[in-house]
Amino acid sequence: MASRRVSLGIPVPRRTDETSPALPDTSDRPDTPALADRFGRAATDLRLSLTDFCNLRCTYCMPASGLTFLGRDQLLGVDEVVRLVRIGVERLGITQVRFTGGEPLTRPDLEEIIAGVAALTPRPDISVTTNAIGLDHRAEALRAAGLDRINVSLDSVVSETFERLTRRPLLHRVLAGIDGARAAGLGPIKINAVLMPGVNDHELPDLLDWCLERDLQLRVIEQMPLDADHIWDRGAMITADDVHAMLAPRYLLTPVDEPRDGAPAELFEVAGREDGRHLGRVGVIASVTRPFCADCRRTRLTAEGRVRTCLFSREETDLRGALRSGADDEEIARIWRAAQWGKKAGHGMDRADFVQPERPMSAIGG
Ligand code: SAM
Ligand code: SF4
Repeated sequence: MASRRVSLGIPVPRRTDETSPALPDTSDRPDTPALADRFGRAATDLRLSLTDFCNLRCTYCMPASGLTFLGRDQLLGVDEVVRLVRIGVERLGITQVRFTGGEPLTRPDLEEIIAGVAALTPRPDISVTTNAIGLDHRAEALRAAGLDRINVSLDSVVSETFERLTRRPLLHRVLAGIDGARAAGLGPIKINAVLMPGVNDHELPDLLDWCLERDLQLRVIEQMPLDADHIWDRGAMITADDVHAMLAPRYLLTPVDEPRDGAPAELFEVAGREDGRHLGRVGVIASVTRPFCADCRRTRLTAEGRVRTCLFSREETDLRGALRSGADDEEIARIWRAAQWGKKAGHGMDRADFVQPERPMSAIGG
């Protein structure tokens, strides 16, 4: 396959200092097929990045000039993605697969990938995280292929703010994408929003209003140190506590009385402060201030087929090389299990020796 180089402006060289070291010592690993780690967790949820390319440039994720994106031959192909997911569901206990990126809708073969995964036994739950640009034209086909659910990233419904955050004047296309997804029956749709201080944080109550009116579940994500420009500032970031304080004048939030089951979002029932009328739910993903690492059930694959056991990993394990050199399914499962055994107890953001990963979020897959 020909190599594809895409650049916009002057692309920032892609930083890839994460190493693919020797596999962790597994002599103390119990003989289990699961993706177990040393801290008693087993991964059942696979986040698989399909590309590092994106048509937006969110300030908390990508640099304005883009990155030097992976070539086509470096990305996993349809058969490779489906094979890795098959190994995951047949041999490793994976029950949920979320496709992400970069922007997964920039892959023209997304429908084919989803159809391949939907045909697996056992069939995993299949979801996509997307900026929704172009989704209006593809939602029907994605649904027909087997897509179960989507999360749409939308940080503002004010055009000027949207453009400031994403560096593209494309709010209308995102809104069309959400409408198309609803029309295709891809509900319930979750909306992911990152709040940036002084940019869109003051819009939060209106954004929640907007979502509640449309039966969309807003999930506010704390900004993490995963941006290419290294603009994250622990002292200035909007925390889960700030979110509660900002919503309090308009809404009453009550914790949802359901087991969290390893889900990253803390859920709250939302009622109007004036009349107490129930309006829906909101989620808060407090990865920084209330980490949920002890319950993490995730394993990740980058777009070029490297296992990352955490968003904040400094090590990666290559599976694409094994795939392309003829390894059988059990050998690939063995490498994946060994990589997962090396998963750290937590992301370590609060430690003095914390180092931000070289890969930005767009190149990991959020
Ligand atoms: N392009 C798709 C999208 O935006 O939904 C999928 C990939 S994007 C990297 C996945 C999610 O990561 C988005 O919801 C985005 O808001 C979130 N994200 C990106 N950078 C982040 C950061 N530094 N901190 C917290 N969330 C981030
Ligand atoms: Fe693209 Fe998603 Fe990153 Fe925004 S958050 S730049 S839409 S990958």
